[in-house]
Amino acid sequence: MAFDVVVIGAGPSGLAAAARLAHFGVGVCLLEAHTRPGGLSSWHQVKGREISSGLHALTNYRPDGRSGPLGRLLRQLRLSHADLALRPQIRSSIRFPSASLSFTNDPEYFRSLVAESFPGEIGGFDRFRRLVADTDEGELTLRQTSARDILAAHIKDPLLADMLLCPVMFYGNPGGVGDGNDAARQAPDMDWLLFCVTWKCVFESGFAHPAHGMRPLWEALIRRIRENGGEVRLGAEVAGLASEAGRVTAVRLISGEELTGKIFFSSAGAVETAALLGQEPDRPVGGVSVAEGVALLDGPASEIGMADTVIFYSFSNRFSYGRPDGLVGEGNGVICATGNYAPIPGRAAETNADPGCLKITQLASFPAWSRLDADAYAAAKQKTAAGMAAALARLKVELLAKGGSGHKRVAPFDDLFTPMTLRRYARHSEAALYGSPVKTRAGAAFRDNLFLIGADQGFQGIVGAMLSGVAMANLHVLKKNL
Ligand SMILES: Cc1cc2nc3c(=O)[nH]c(=O)nc-3n(C[C@H](O)[C@H](O)[C@H](O)COP(=O)(O)OP(=O)(O)OC[C@H]3O[C@@H](n4cnc5c(N)ncnc54)[C@H](O)[C@@H]3O)c2cc1C
Repeated sequence: MAFDVVVIGAGPSGLAAAARLAHFGVGVCLLEAHTRPGGLSSWHQVKGREISSGLHALTNYRPDGRSGPLGRLLRQLRLSHADLALRPQIRSSIRFPSASLSFTNDPEYFRSLVAESFPGEIGGFDRFRRLVADTDEGELTLRQTSARDILAAHIKDPLLADMLLCPVMFYGNPGGVGDGNDAARQAPDMDWLLFCVTWKCVFESGFAHPAHGMRPLWEALIRRIRENGGEVRLGAEVAGLASEAGRVTAVRLISGEELTGKIFFSSAGAVETAALLGQEPDRPVGGVSVAEGVALLDGPASEIGMADTVIFYSFSNRFSYGRPDGLVGEGNGVICATGNYAPIPGRAAETNADPGCLKITQLASFPAWSRLDADAYAAAKQKTAAGMAAALARLKVELLAKGGSGHKRVAPFDDLFTPMTLRRYARHSEAALYGSPVKTRAGAAFRDNLFLIGADQGFQGIVGAMLSGVAMANLHVLKKNL
């Protein structure tokens, strides 16, 4: 079969690209290896309840529903805040041993707390914020630069600098600058452009949570693609790409079927796309992956000590980031209570019914997990669960046995996934969460008509990946009047 554009992967970037192209009448075919869309941000059942996998917070939320990247993205996809039933966050925090800072969807609230806790730094903080605001995240040619160096030129107190780096790195750092190899994990760095994009996501706009998870959005996009004449194939794994004279000519599915096209988009990742072409990768694999424990809640998370929406914690005043030496990095992490979002006025009963779950996410090493046999893997999961419960307890979040007997559960999590789970479900090499540290901002990769979308193009997270899909569809197809 012949298409104008073939898109590999129905994660956020592939879905958004295909929806945008189909809307403008481009003959598009979206191919997804799994039977479910959403990629790293899909859904699964735990003990009969549906959980949004890979979702703490939808970023870039603005109360007016129209401004900012999320508003623009929804307009481009002909969707609205109301379609997503977005509940804004209550309050999140950054907790280090010597200081804590809270932030909400009002950036000035965060600024006031920085001024209160670090009065000597507020001038530098304000200058730094302006510099971030003035940096254009759409800049496709900016060279990789150290965010840590730029931050250090404005913020002198290393505690504040590390507290600011912590949530930004957790929500968007594939690892280091350039080749991704930080000189020292104890002084982790991040590309300046990625830092600015993620800073704006975390501190300058806001967090929200779709009341019914990501599934309604992914299903709506698939309906749109099909209504507009596009094709979506789930359970269709691409096994290889055929090319001739510097151009991709066809994708070969694992079933043996071949689909030809004029343009090809891949959200599989740069290293993975090179493998589909049968060639060596031109960049390193990303080293950042995670493990996550999920506890289903029967009531408000505040009753077990979790009043915040998201907590970014570090048990050391020096924030470390990157692949841990052991299975997981026990020294820091992210906790999210998916029910700790505000109800939508007028829709409280519909949008606030589910108490949600508590998620704790820690950095994890794919190589360490991949070396384990079945018995060792099961034991490692138990040990990791116990470590996660201990981390929660240090933060005064107590997972109690159901029934309120006051006894802590031995294995407190209803679900725990590891880098092996992520590798299986999104197929990225070494379960890299944010792709390779080397990005291709203009998208063009390996062949004249092949373009990367999603994490390896350069935008992270659900909104970032969707923006990437739309931007590459605009740049490489719609503006060229294909
Ligand atoms: C635990 C966790 C928590 C997260 N929390 C958040 C959060 O709170 N907020 C946020 O914004 N982001 C979050 N993310 C990140 C977010 O999920 C990703 O940034 C986003 O999904 C990336 O989208 P993508 O389209 O680039 O790639 P992916 O989501 O990885 O999708 C790629 C798709 O391509 C498919 N594919 C790969 N190879 C092939 C092939 N050969 N043939 C066919 N299909 C193929 C895969 O199966 C997959 O479906 C989280 C991720 C995880 C794992």
